[in-house]
Amino acid sequence: MANFPIFLKLQNSPCLVVGGGDVATRKTEQLLKADAKVTVIAPKINAALKKFAEDQQIIIIERGYEQTDIELMELVIAATDDSDLNNKIARHAKSKQILINVVDNPDAGTFIMPSVIDRSPVMIAVSTGGASPVLARLLRARLETLIPANYGKLASLISRFRETVKSKFSSIKERRRFWEQLLQGPVAELLYAGQDQKALNLLEKQLTAESPAIESGGEVYLVGGGPGDPDLLTFRALRLMQQADVVLYDRLVASDIVNLVRKDAERIYVGKERDKHTLPQEEINQLLVDLAKQGKRVLRLKGGDPFIFGRGGEEIDLLSENNIPFQIVPGITAASGCASYAGIPLTHRDHAQSCLFITGHLKDGTMNLNWSALVQPQQTLAVYMGTHGIEILSRELIKHGLSESTPAAIIQQGTTSVQQTYITTVKDLPDIPKQNDIKPPSMIIIGDVVSLHEKLAWFALVE
Ligand code: SAH
Repeated sequence: MANFPIFLKLQNSPCLVVGGGDVATRKTEQLLKADAKVTVIAPKINAALKKFAEDQQIIIIERGYEQTDIELMELVIAATDDSDLNNKIARHAKSKQILINVVDNPDAGTFIMPSVIDRSPVMIAVSTGGASPVLARLLRARLETLIPANYGKLASLISRFRETVKSKFSSIKERRRFWEQLLQGPVAELLYAGQDQKALNLLEKQLTAESPAIESGGEVYLVGGGPGDPDLLTFRALRLMQQADVVLYDRLVASDIVNLVRKDAERIYVGKERDKHTLPQEEINQLLVDLAKQGKRVLRLKGGDPFIFGRGGEEIDLLSENNIPFQIVPGITAASGCASYAGIPLTHRDHAQSCLFITGHLKDGTMNLNWSALVQPQQTLAVYMGTHGIEILSRELIKHGLSESTPAAIIQQGTTSVQQTYITTVKDLPDIPKQNDIKPPSMIIIGDVVSLHEKLAWFALVE
């Protein structure tokens, strides 16, 4: 081990930063987070540091460094752009056994500063021993995505209840099991989702029960998997995908995304192909309830966003009636994924002040839409499930006053590596599926904004 990792307590400790630029500012900010008493010395001091001084968070001295400056300091950071000076400061500090960090020369000082993932009171520090700060930063970014922003709250909650848990469970093994389940169950999830009071109530309920039952842990995550590109998943979606015991997914969820679910999770395909639902909606709803009642963490993975033409509302209705804890994770909906990847802004100051998300799904062979609302000027229409009714869509829009030449696009398998964009007009929309083999899923976007595609398209430029 080249460097010995420790965490320093610096509350009210006098610390010196030599340097008045951006690096010095960053180091000062870090020291302030630890409540250190910071003095900054440099002949020229930048505006950010001056602002700290104005707010009485630090003391600044505008002049060059002098050897006596380090006296009475507990920790010094040499952050000037003069490496000879930095090394000199290091020698002075070392001779007085004062902790010293030299920003551009990790070997010159007595300590180095790690990349930090701050989930106070939980702190993770990453260091490559000075070999590559970039590598440390990348690693930090990966860890940031894995650890929920509210992770620290969990640690605080544990410390508040440690004694109570100790008195409830006499054996270490029982206690450990209790905490392990708690940290991976609904209490933790409630905290991550910002429902602190509910988390507290649930924990208290578990602890005040006659014989504190260890929570079975059944819960449901209704998660939006986005339009197809796995990179468009949210951090929370990915985390829940990796902790679920069982996943219910349908055809709309790209296989690249299903593959990110925990490897040993049970996978249940519930279909939803047009006109041949593998499992009727009521059975899906019931299955979610049954699986959660067995104590499983159930992931209901939906394409796009669960609350946009996703029947998310119906699926959680029964959960709520059965008092099963659930949470909903939004996803990028097809309209916004397809629009971005096709270079079509859904709104634009010059072309569209509103955007409607509508379904072109046929019911009894017709499309039951409020046509006059759809043909308003300066408005974009994002049509889900519209390819089968494309003739009716085109005909009715024109009949109700939309100009025949209004630009229109069909985006097939948007955001995936095989995305295709077809550009036409409202009048000629029906020709596209006639002349091409349009594969599902595809999205229709209508409005003047479509004309911007020519200039703004950037992804999978096959036409
Ligand atoms: N909840 C989903 C929509 C479900 S309805 C969401 O928020 O995106 C299904 C329709 O969404 C499809 O018929 C298609 O019109 C559209 N769709 C979903 N993913 C798509 C994709 N990758 N490319 C184009 N259209 C898509």
